[in-house]
Amino acid sequence: MLIKTEGFVLKNNKYGETDSMLTLFTRKVGKITAIAKGARRPKSNLLAGIQPFCYSDFVLYKGKSLYTVSQCDSKEIFYKIREDLDALTYGAYYLELVEAVTNEGQTNNRLFNLLGKTLTVISTKDIEILTVTRSFELKLLTYAGYKPHLTSCVSCNNTSFSQIKFSVEEGGLLCPNCFQVDPFAIKISVTAVRLANYLINKDITEIQKLKVNDKLNKELKEILRKYIIVHINKYQFKSLEMLEKL
Ligand SMILES: [Zn+2]
Repeated sequence: MLIKTEGFVLKNNKYGETDSMLTLFTRKVGKITAIAKGARRPKSNLLAGIQPFCYSDFVLYKGKSLYTVSQCDSKEIFYKIREDLDALTYGAYYLELVEAVTNEGQTNNRLFNLLGKTLTVISTKDIEILTVTRSFELKLLTYAGYKPHLTSCVSCNNTSFSQIKFSVEEGGLLCPNCFQVDPFAIKISVTAVRLANYLINKDITEIQKLKVNDKLNKELKEILRKYIIVHINKYQFKSLEMLEKL
């Protein structure tokens, strides 16, 4: 069976002598593994469209257990991401996150569109990459079904309180009456909660130049990191280890 779909290359690993094993996030068939036969031969016409980040039109042949790439035309290779270490590292982190939250064969149009928009945003200059990254994390969690509960107390639904904590385990805010629900809940400022809700609801292109002060970004970053570890069940991000070194 032949399938024609657009898709992003999340991963490209060497396979055998001249083949590549790809992890693709496609519009029509979701995340899949596909072999690109002979793709590492210098004259292969697949070569241009199968590097990580590439947004390409694929013609895929579905075999018994694997897909094979029979044709591939790159629509956008995001070369500007490769030229900038910050963009490259954060971009690699986005790809890792998408791979972690998607299931084989399950489509997710909102996430697909978000990835395309975000890669386009980080290809441009003068953007606030930390704000973009926090927004990407929050939106990805939302679209993948892991949206943190940030509008009321996750335990009693109370909405009026001045002191709040964030419970990673419970997946949202706790009011003082419910602090005992999770002894490991983390203090969170009202400003950080407001920012998080803003970043979930605004389009990524609208917040790309929004400056967030370091302290606030760090507060949100730490909470989201813990949340991602627990809810996505992924502990290691190669790209994050690189980020720490930047
Ligand atoms: Zn409560």
